Amino acid sequence: MSSPDLSDLERQAVMQVLHTPNLSMGEQIEAFEAAFRHYLGAKHAIGVNSGTAALHLCVLAASITSGDWVLTTPFSFVASTNVVLYANAIPVFVDVEPRTGNMDLAQAAQAVRDLAEGGAAARRWLPRRGLGRRKGQLKAILAIDVFGQPADWDALRTLAAPLGLKLIEDSCEALGAEYKGRKAGLLGDYGTFGFYPNKQITTGEGGMIVTNDDEGASLMRALRNQGRAPGDTWLQHTYLGYNYRLDELSAALGVAQMQRLEQLLRRREQVAAWYNQRLRDLPGVEIPYIAPETTRMSWFVYVIRLAPGIDRAGVAARLAERGVPVRPYFLPIHLQPYMRARFGYRPGDFPVTEDLGERGLALPFSGIMSEEQVDHVCRALRQVL
Ligand SMILES: *Cc1c(COP(=O)(O)O)cnc(C)c1O
Repeated sequence: MSSPDLSDLERQAVMQVLHTPNLSMGEQIEAFEAAFRHYLGAKHAIGVNSGTAALHLCVLAASITSGDWVLTTPFSFVASTNVVLYANAIPVFVDVEPRTGNMDLAQAAQAVRDLAEGGAAARRWLPRRGLGRRKGQLKAILAIDVFGQPADWDALRTLAAPLGLKLIEDSCEALGAEYKGRKAGLLGDYGTFGFYPNKQITTGEGGMIVTNDDEGASLMRALRNQGRAPGDTWLQHTYLGYNYRLDELSAALGVAQMQRLEQLLRRREQVAAWYNQRLRDLPGVEIPYIAPETTRMSWFVYVIRLAPGIDRAGVAARLAERGVPVRPYFLPIHLQPYMRARFGYRPGDFPVTEDLGERGLALPFSGIMSEEQVDHVCRALRQVL
């Protein structure tokens, strides 16, 4: 389905670390963080060992605690909802905009108003059960830049500002993306990236937090490192922390990938353009939509939508017979078994998310695909349809 784009630069960078005794908390993490600060123009970048860890620390920095409500969407990778649950807070879902799969702004605006009002108006947005004993309060909006396309962050800020809500940007799929000329990651108060091998850059496992908030950054740095505040010795722990540190081997890989970032992004753009050319006019297939505010799409995956009524599982099975792996994308978060059990969600609760979830098909995608490989996938798809 996907493959990292690695060169001798990366291999040598990792090998060099193995010639030193410093395998954690050394020069490489510093250099990796500096690369992100410079690329984004961010005041702070904090390397961690996964995108999920990055999101979890942002939730803690936003002072989200037990029973609080966080507005988010169910059309995402599960981590964006799970980090809210890690803090014993309640993810409050709104549906997504059908073209982009990003948070639906009209619904978000209504939900923010209703949740502030409380009572029956608020209940319309809350899950059927699993709310806990404490009366909730909306604390933050956690929006996802789905598939490498930024959400409408100016509109989200307009909603958040009057109520003092924190904005957490899950930009784990959007390194390099731009919204109205501004880079993804700094569009909210706290932004996150993930470096699993299918992402735009990889460190094997890894993540990064970016922010301009001094206080939040200082807290997240401490929480990443077992709760050691500035001035604490190795065995002093001001906070309940975590081991979310990124090791030097991974960081060195990240530094090398960041040096090649523009090349990596361009290759992915080229592969997406090959797909677009070949699939644009294929009946039964919708190609990805790019909003006018997206001044640069950062291609994370290439997800087509099959027309309603096409048997997706059948298409996937016949493509597999032709040596083409594909995946349904995403399975809605609210319908995952643990979410149904805890909050009482059922099919029909978020119809747009469910429709996209039923019709979306991720095609093989990476920056190292050749035009012949894209041809092969598209020819197989044409035959099968
Ligand atoms: C990849 C991803 C993450 C982070 O995943 P990790 O595997 O923990 O690095 C978070 N949110 C979204 C939307 C993602 O796609």
